[in-house]
Amino acid sequence: MAATALRVVKTVSAVREATVQWRAAGETIAFAPTMGNLHAGHMSLAALSAKAARRVVMSIFVNPTQFGPSEDFASYPRTLDADEALIGAAGNVDLLFVPEPDEIYPFGLEDTVRVQLPALSRELCGATRPGHFDGVATVVCRLLNIVMPDVLVLGQKDYQQFVLVHRMITDLRMPVELRMAPTQREPDGLAMSSRNRYLGPAERTRAPALHAALARVRAELIAGRRDLPQLAAEARAELERAGFVPEYVEIRRQGDLGPTDSERVEPRIVLGAARLGRARLIDNLLV
Ligand code: AMP
Repeated sequence: MAATALRVVKTVSAVREATVQWRAAGETIAFAPTMGNLHAGHMSLAALSAKAARRVVMSIFVNPTQFGPSEDFASYPRTLDADEALIGAAGNVDLLFVPEPDEIYPFGLEDTVRVQLPALSRELCGATRPGHFDGVATVVCRLLNIVMPDVLVLGQKDYQQFVLVHRMITDLRMPVELRMAPTQREPDGLAMSSRNRYLGPAERTRAPALHAALARVRAELIAGRRDLPQLAAEARAELERAGFVPEYVEIRRQGDLGPTDSERVEPRIVLGAARLGRARLIDNLLV
């Protein structure tokens, strides 16, 4: 099939102009939101989108409301030219939406309408990033209202984000289908992430230890280990020995990230977050 010609737009009205025409022609739309600095993980979202719908919209927006005051909003890598080249070469995206903040937050950031998520948003990554998931939901809600896609594609790497966006869509009766793209990894197991560029050379060599620790937990669970809290504690200790500052390693119920225990037979997920130098890395594995 011929490669899709990429159009890059900056305004809500330009997105609406394109999507109105597609919908009038009976064409379905899939949407993959990103913060840019694109890698093969993001491009797998574009590929899944192209399978899921006739038209593909991608966005690049470093969303200020999901960063805490001491987080990396200012220094987050912005590489728009390289991103456009990557998407253009992939040839599977129709429209790239690259808004300025006032296009998304016309009333500014302080006194604006926000989405407030339920308690899960304050657990796991939310415990150390207060307000982060509310900020994610706030921008995803806006982007969905702008693009009005049939299908929203998010990555498994941010599993808690996926579950919380699913909850928002279900709870607010938003008419969109959510699909998950599997985590893309470097050859040594490290999950691809824009924040991997914060790793120095020595840290980069150690970084796959996060995936390795989670893989060990998964293997032990499959082998029948039942002492789940002890197993998670061992993984945290393993990360400390590898030079990480672990935030959490937890074993949860896969569907909704609720608690699980050794008595229950149900799909589980092991999730971890840890700091390594300047970088905060997250990963998860389905069991
Ligand atoms: P970000 O640009 O980090 O906000 O990520 C945008 C989307 O890409 C989110 O849905 C992420 O879950 C997804 N994503 C990021 N890294 C990966 C990866 N390594 N594999 C698959 N999806 C990813």
